[in-house]
Amino acid sequence: MNAQELAQKHKLLECIQCGACTGSCPVARKANLNVRRYMRDVATFGKLTIHPQNELWSCTTCSTCGIRCPKEINPYEFLIDIRSMAVEEGQIAPTIRDALESIFKNGNPWARIRNKRSEWLQGLNVKHISQGADILLYVGCTSAYDPRIQNVAKSLVACLEKAGLNFGILGDEENCCGSEVYGMGEKGLFDYLVEENMKIFDKYNVKQAVTSCPHGFHAFKSRYNQTSFEIQHCTQLLAKLIENGKLTFTKEVNKKAIYHDPCFLGKQNGIYDEPRKVIESVPGVKLLEFDRSRARSLCCEGGGGRMWIDIPGPRLAEIRVKDAVEQGAEILAVACPFCLLTIEDAVKTTGNEGKIQTMDIAELASLAL
Ligand code: SF4
Ligand code: SF4
Repeated sequence: MNAQELAQKHKLLECIQCGACTGSCPVARKANLNVRRYMRDVATFGKLTIHPQNELWSCTTCSTCGIRCPKEINPYEFLIDIRSMAVEEGQIAPTIRDALESIFKNGNPWARIRNKRSEWLQGLNVKHISQGADILLYVGCTSAYDPRIQNVAKSLVACLEKAGLNFGILGDEENCCGSEVYGMGEKGLFDYLVEENMKIFDKYNVKQAVTSCPHGFHAFKSRYNQTSFEIQHCTQLLAKLIENGKLTFTKEVNKKAIYHDPCFLGKQNGIYDEPRKVIESVPGVKLLEFDRSRARSLCCEGGGGRMWIDIPGPRLAEIRVKDAVEQGAEILAVACPFCLLTIEDAVKTTGNEGKIQTMDIAELASLAL
């Protein structure tokens, strides 16, 4: 794509250079990322340059810039195209390259073997989708392989079982959804994953699916260009199950919980109420709110491939933890595996272990079953 095509595709000539995108970007200062300037260089001067790695790969694809833009331009989509050029030219950080290679080879970015994908299920009795299920639980790479996040998958299974839902999984046949592949600009690999995944979903005639990861949810909903199945995030499903009386609680969790809106659930998809509804339904839980919540929520820096590249500077997840502790929260509730990992780590690095606990909403709900 040349500069003119890129400018046309992203409506860059409509940009009024107001700076709202750069001004609202959570990583602008720490990574020297000035997306307004990048776009001006392309649209006005026809300069198509790949910027220094830390700048280019610092974008978390949180979409704040797109939300704030008065001209309905999505600067981060433009950045993803610039990343694609970098990937094609091989100008990528070794850690990003390794994650992409692992996805191609193993179907996950965590360098784990494909046939261990369902090891987390040990001791559980979850059926394969082929055994006749109404809804597919798409587990996702991080829930399947990360020892901490496996507990989220187990908690979600416990909630769905308690609600009497007829669900099944793909087991070792499940493959990476490709969300982060897209965000890292490897669009060839993304297209390949879409094709492979759609073959599997069609093979088992999947009509409904649920995922606990907002990144997978967003990919299936908005990047797959598919209409054959309906996708829900687990907080949407849990809220419905609570509302229609299928999911009930028997225990109390007497704690104050503050909810961190994940960018891919909130800003990208406008899902703000359902997660809060689930938290508030857990007996004994008092829901607190961050100053920066909903569309103003502060990104944790886990998206857009940032799980595989460290950008030096102050960490936003640490700011989130400090704000939560100041508010008097005992639980920092999240609804995304990347948020859970970045924020739980920030609890340790800010010395707040023992003061506040990071927990996925499914884990919080499972405590009260
Ligand atoms: S998506 Fe987020 S991190 Fe990326 S440029 Fe926009 S505001 Fe900055
Ligand atoms: S917010 Fe929109 S109009 Fe303003 S500088 Fe950024 S892209 Fe241009």
